[in-house]
Amino acid sequence: MEPIEESVDAYLCPFCRAENNCMAYSKEPCWCFEITIPTALQELIPESSKGKSCICLACINAYQESPENFALDKNLSTNK
Ligand SMILES: [Zn+2]
Repeated sequence: MEPIEESVDAYLCPFCRAENNCMAYSKEPCWCFEITIPTALQELIPESSKGKSCICLACINAYQESPENFALDKNLSTNK
């Protein structure tokens, strides 16, 4: 039997599946509290990962450089 992904791995970026280095579950303040994640980017997080997984810094940077390219690259639909 395959292990079913009943819980999303909070340490993996929902977009690129890389480790996000989020410190939310440690005692250190997470770097993600220091920066502003665009609301539009948060909207793109898959429903199953919302509120669970952090986006990694690389994806935030990529999104800020070009939201269109980011969405294309990640196969995301920006039009709702
Ligand atoms: Zn990422």
